[in-house]
Amino acid sequence: MPAINENFLKLEKNYLFINIAKKVNAFTAANPDAKLIRMGIGDVTLPLAPVVVDAMKKGADEMGVKETFKGYEDSGAGYDFLREAVSDYYKSFGADVSADEIRINDGAKSDCGNIVDIFGDDNIILVTDPAYPVYVDSNKMSGRTIIYADSNEENGFAAMPDESVHADIIYLCSPNNPTGSVYTAEQLKVWIDYAKKNDAVIIYDAAYEAFITDPDVPRSIFCIEGAKECAIEMCSLSKTAGFTGVRCGYTVVPNALKVTASDGTEVSLAQIWGRRQGSKFNGVSYPVQCAAAAVFTEEGQKQIHENIAYYQENARIISDTMTKVGVKFTGGVNSPYIWFKCPKNMGSWEFFDMMLEKIAVVGTPGEGFGKNGEGWFRLTAFGDRDNTIEAMKRFEKLVSEL
Ligand code: PLP
Repeated sequence: MPAINENFLKLEKNYLFINIAKKVNAFTAANPDAKLIRMGIGDVTLPLAPVVVDAMKKGADEMGVKETFKGYEDSGAGYDFLREAVSDYYKSFGADVSADEIRINDGAKSDCGNIVDIFGDDNIILVTDPAYPVYVDSNKMSGRTIIYADSNEENGFAAMPDESVHADIIYLCSPNNPTGSVYTAEQLKVWIDYAKKNDAVIIYDAAYEAFITDPDVPRSIFCIEGAKECAIEMCSLSKTAGFTGVRCGYTVVPNALKVTASDGTEVSLAQIWGRRQGSKFNGVSYPVQCAAAAVFTEEGQKQIHENIAYYQENARIISDTMTKVGVKFTGGVNSPYIWFKCPKNMGSWEFFDMMLEKIAVVGTPGEGFGKNGEGWFRLTAFGDRDNTIEAMKRFEKLVSEL
């Protein structure tokens, strides 16, 4: 009988979305006529942009013709046309990332989880808390030591390094899921300096960069000096262009990022990541890469930004409601997430139950994202406009009567 990786048995059960589903099912069974509004799960709701659909169809048509059919892609790192388009996109907001530093993938979640393969298990992993659960789970699966940097009300949910504590790998996410907070250029520079002092590597998740509206907030860690010697960046078209069901993203491992192996030799992380991917990943389908390339065309950018603007307006409606009823929150600007403090110091689940029972609105209790999420709550702006307006009317009434 094979021995299993017992670290899986030590993972915390993912009760969050199971519990939500159970409670929602019980509520709808008991209240079949209630108009339930879901503002919990971070999935998009608007369809793909027409230019993206056309490009995907054209790619599929080419696959049906002998002369243009494509089998395995040679490198598995993504077609040059897409890697060049991503590189130009980075240049458009001031980050110098060359096409050969970019690898195309089937979404950011895969690489966020898979990147652990290229690092040893003795590393100390630093995760900001609360956080997107993949960073913690993927490291726990390899039995690694995880330490946490607190994101909380005092620091505006933007944790900064504790200079007295050492870490080898640091996970940062900006704009943040779940808190919607963002790091400024100055704050990122502090993290970069800390990483360099500790010979650490930053894994930077920029999945929500397209929601940044403030010109002073960096869209990539590579907008900041020194990042190329200490950071890896993951990005995704899921929220940017509605690709949650299409699956495409990209990871940047800079050529300048080097670490020293135990025998003293200098190792390029881009090379070993390429080796890892070459052995375990065979690339993204051609029609999907055609669709992704369309996102970066002038027309593609125009069309996807119409969808983003729709979500941003939802975020504004939610934020305005929070302000009006005097509920503290982060996010909403530069982010599709609104992270608010449960009124009357209620616990996250207590508030969840109350919202469900009294106004039939579903959100996500903050404690599902880490201990600092207790007493906080996440709503998403990815829903339908009318539902968002209706949910906020109900929310306003609920909070004003508390
Ligand atoms: N990173 C963050 C912070 C996310 O919130 C998500 C999805 O919700 C992802 C990465 C993964 O996105 P995908 O795998 O769809 O590209």
